[in-house]
Amino acid sequence: MSRIVIVGGGAAGIELSTLLNKTTTKEDSIILVEPETHHFWKPRLHEIAAGTFDSDLDTVCYFTHGARHGYQHYQASMTDINRDNKTISVCGAADGVNYQLDYDYLIIAIGAVSNDFNTPGAQDHCIFLDSANQARQAWHRMSFILRAGDTRTVNIVGAGATGVELAAELERVSRKLQRYNGTPLTINLIEAADRVLPNSPEKMSRKVQQQLEKNNINVLLQTRISEVTDKGMITSDDRTLDADVQFWAAGIKAPDWLNGIGGLAYNRINQIEVNMNLTTTVDDCIFALGDCAAIPQPDGSFVPPKAQAANRAAEHLAKSLGGFLKGKPLTDFIFKDGGMVVAVGHYFAVGSFAPGSKMESKFVLHGLLIRRVYDTIFRLHQKTISGMFTVSRLMLSKRLKAIFKPNI
Ligand SMILES: Cc1cc2nc3c(=O)[nH]c(=O)nc-3n(C[C@H](O)[C@H](O)[C@H](O)COP(=O)(O)OP(=O)(O)OC[C@H]3O[C@@H](n4cnc5c(N)ncnc54)[C@H](O)[C@@H]3O)c2cc1C
Repeated sequence: MSRIVIVGGGAAGIELSTLLNKTTTKEDSIILVEPETHHFWKPRLHEIAAGTFDSDLDTVCYFTHGARHGYQHYQASMTDINRDNKTISVCGAADGVNYQLDYDYLIIAIGAVSNDFNTPGAQDHCIFLDSANQARQAWHRMSFILRAGDTRTVNIVGAGATGVELAAELERVSRKLQRYNGTPLTINLIEAADRVLPNSPEKMSRKVQQQLEKNNINVLLQTRISEVTDKGMITSDDRTLDADVQFWAAGIKAPDWLNGIGGLAYNRINQIEVNMNLTTTVDDCIFALGDCAAIPQPDGSFVPPKAQAANRAAEHLAKSLGGFLKGKPLTDFIFKDGGMVVAVGHYFAVGSFAPGSKMESKFVLHGLLIRRVYDTIFRLHQKTISGMFTVSRLMLSKRLKAIFKPNI
């Protein structure tokens, strides 16, 4: 009998908690430590910030989900690891009480946060989209701005998937609300690299930029922010970009508090160093996956911080650890990248497929159909954690709801 403690119920953690129930035995116990009451699919946090997210249909309550899928949810945050005693310290999210939890196997999947690269003023004057809570606070701010009436400016730093999707969704909402005398938004999407989505094929970057500019979003490339104030941003070449609301969506790192705990090995962006079989390089009883882990690949590269990679790693570890507990060896996780889809508003998305191959830039597709592919990625995640029947019911409910209720 083994006690498996999973820390973090995001894209990787909730899938792993669900799937381990099928690959382990009844005697094994599975505990999920997660401070939130509900699971949100992180790639949709920009929809919460823009007021278009449906929390009735698109969230999962850990308490009831755990009861149905054989794991126990502790609503708490991990704060420390004691490898000698095989315990973790946690802090209750509701009452702030600190306590210890024993583990036989510990799996860390706490995700990542935005990297402000120590830019002065960023923490004080920017909104970050690292958690559902922050996204809700962003919406409180945006809903006030969107009612102001006269033109307001939004600065968004980082033209990766988060920044692009946020800019497009805010523009759509402000455009729709103008029929109710809502605020027209001027949106500046600011990127230090020479193209949007710098880690995607160039053709995909071009298509996304065209669509953003068609939607009147100002794309400012090769623009590095050196300071943020309460009034705006100052660029490294001393320009000032005044704004009423400022978002920081550039870069990622694992949270600073993680680095050093438990005496594990960490890289320069605080990610836990693991082996290809997902055990940490220091301790075989501790695993890490998702955005908080530096997972090496046979070609010397590392698994990218993507929702798809977090999901694949969770599926892999559920099988591998399940087998290991029955006496088989752990197996290596080799990530086969299926490409990337980025939504630019509600009716348009751009996707690149066959990454790494010579055909990569040829397989850049865009339009409404690709937007549906983007939705499918979320539905596949829902199917893994809730089953096909539940997903079908949710999709039907959503369609019916859309007929009777506007989505903003
Ligand atoms: C707005 C936005 C848009 C994105 N768009 C895309 C996209 O289009 N495509 C794509 O591939 N990726 C996208 N991403 C990235 C994607 O969301 C992540 O790669 C993915 O969610 C990583 O999964 P994870 O399980 O590692 O972490 P997460 O999904 O971030 O989950 C981490 C979990 O750990 C919990 N946690 C944190 N600290 C603690 C603690 N101390 N103790 C216990 N639990 C803790 C958190 O509450 C959270 O539930 C986007 C991200 C954002 C923010």
